[in-house]
Amino acid sequence: MRTRIVLSVLIGLGMAVALAAGSWYLIHQRAEKVCPLSGRPIEPQTRALVMIGGKKYETCCLRCAIIEARQTGKPLRVLKVANFETSKLMDPARAWFVEGSSVNFCTRMSPAATSRGEGTVYLRMFDRCSPSILAFPSEMSARAFIAQHGGALKRLDGLLKEAKSASGKVQRP
Ligand SMILES: [Zn+2]
Repeated sequence: MRTRIVLSVLIGLGMAVALAAGSWYLIHQRAEKVCPLSGRPIEPQTRALVMIGGKKYETCCLRCAIIEARQTGKPLRVLKVANFETSKLMDPARAWFVEGSSVNFCTRMSPAATSRGEGTVYLRMFDRCSPSILAFPSEMSARAFIAQHGGALKRLDGLLKEAKSASGKVQRP
């Protein structure tokens, strides 16, 4: 009798722990997988780790970060970008970027209408994830991608210049 009670208490405890761990995992996972700038899910192939005005973000794509830096006037530092071919994070200074190809995971996943569009004037043509920026480990792989999906070849310097452009700067509350 006593062992049966102990056993059922143990089973009950085990279930409670499993449930708590499961829901913590779900909440945590979901929180980690949404871009804080666009509200879109973060795709492993296009994500970026950046610092904007001293704050660290994991974003759905590098474009989000560039737009944010431009709109707030805060300095942008790109820490890591995902290699589009392997989803692994890589040094942005060594990456070859394809800008404005026909491939955009962010807009494909959730169109502009459902994004929060924080701090932006809502123009119909504006999307904070467009034109897309994808990172490749070599010039050859980037050029091969462009041959299939279009876009322009860029290095980090060129992209950072876009982040510094003063036009479109808005005041954040
Ligand atoms: Zn994005």
